Amino acid sequence: MSIIKNLYSIETGNFKLDGGAMFGVVPKAIWKKTNPADDLNMIDMAARSLLIETTSSLILIDTGLGDKQDEKFFSHYHKWGEYSIDDSIKKAGFSSGDVTDVFFTHLHFDHCGGAIIRKGNRLIPRFENANFWVNKGHWEWANSPNSREKASFLPDNILPLKESGKLNLIDANEKPLGFDILTVNGHTEKMMLPVLEFKSRTIVFVSDLIPTSGHVRVPFIMGYDTRPLQTLREKESFLEKAAKDKFLLFLQHDVKNEIIDIKKENNKFKLNKTFKLENI
Ligand SMILES: [Zn+2]
Repeated sequence: MSIIKNLYSIETGNFKLDGGAMFGVVPKAIWKKTNPADDLNMIDMAARSLLIETTSSLILIDTGLGDKQDEKFFSHYHKWGEYSIDDSIKKAGFSSGDVTDVFFTHLHFDHCGGAIIRKGNRLIPRFENANFWVNKGHWEWANSPNSREKASFLPDNILPLKESGKLNLIDANEKPLGFDILTVNGHTEKMMLPVLEFKSRTIVFVSDLIPTSGHVRVPFIMGYDTRPLQTLREKESFLEKAAKDKFLLFLQHDVKNEIIDIKKENNKFKLNKTFKLENI
């Protein structure tokens, strides 16, 4: 089995989303303390991917929003900052052709859009040598989307993956890339969270289960979630274990905090410390 040699944080480009939608039933007076909003009520979002260098592969977890959608589309998401997926991969010492595998936690556009680029009038994979890994149940879900989630599952992302000939559909209990996978069903059908063993620590890529450090409190659940009460249960049991076993949580959407750990105080889960990947 391949051993993890190194991990690299890959910033793919920041964006913004409506703060109310990001916090569901939590009042703004509370969430604005951790996630301040601008004049349009939008909060800052990172789209942070993780590159895993093993002894035999180079695996990218998620790919950010990408840049192939039109201006009208991106006008809703207010992209900002200087990051790009290609620059970040280069900074880590690699190129897109070096990536052997792209693992998608789920297929909402802010997690998979960067995997596909526009070349002339064709949509093709950015990573010409990579295999793509998607949960089988999630793939079916994304291919016949409900109307509430439809705006997140773009045919521009899904069809080129299908046509790539490199799409691998996996079951929840499989471990095709060497690491464990935690599957949760509250945010969307069968979202897969990589669980990595590195430097004697367990690092969990928590994706949209806990998008920012402002979402650590159990009821702080996004309005986007398809099954919020299931997220409630999934978050609680995950955080219980994360606090007890001192998991490190790799945050995808938090502009300030790359990695955090969790403590439990007075029966509430809280952020304990924040870390940078290079310092663990
Ligand atoms: Zn999502």
